[in-house]
Amino acid sequence: MKSIAKLDLQYAHRFYGFKGEAQYLHGHTGILTIEVEGSVNPGVNMVFPCNEIQKTAWDVLKNFDHALILREDDPLLPAVLDVYEKQGIRNGAPSNTMKGPAFKTELATAYPECRLVVTKETMTVEGMIKIVYDLLKDKLNIVKLTFSSGVNEASEEYEPHLNVDRCPLCGIALDENGVCPKCGYRKA
Ligand SMILES: [Zn+2]
Ligand SMILES: [Zn+2]
Repeated sequence: MKSIAKLDLQYAHRFYGFKGEAQYLHGHTGILTIEVEGSVNPGVNMVFPCNEIQKTAWDVLKNFDHALILREDDPLLPAVLDVYEKQGIRNGAPSNTMKGPAFKTELATAYPECRLVVTKETMTVEGMIKIVYDLLKDKLNIVKLTFSSGVNEASEEYEPHLNVDRCPLCGIALDENGVCPKCGYRKA
């Protein structure tokens, strides 16, 4: 059985080098749907609490929300950083609090302090799915991702690949010591 969680990401980007409107900076509300597979946990009668999927995903993905997403070779990147620098917000601002942990994968690097994500490839809906899977595959047993943004939508399916030990009381994943981070349950 699957548990499904959705989250919204509002971001700005452009397709650098693309011959169309999308070569200009513009924004979207993207909707990401994450489908997680698992056995139904008899104690709580759910695969994985959807709010926990959301929490786990949001912790990382909030770096994409109200963020600027640019490809690493886009000349806007040094230009924007220069403006942020001069304005004194390059390394953070008191109002910029919704920051996830900085991350760097082969496909994307997040700079939460200035709400910027730099990508290796153009950030299309397909590109976003690759980035998200890479960021979350070790945390969630993802079997399908769907990302829609405006009229564009893409999805990809994956083989179940994680066997997550879950708390029989809360349904959430136990930590590496077999302890529930929420209620303290300890695996015998
Ligand atoms: Zn776009
Ligand atoms: Zn628990």
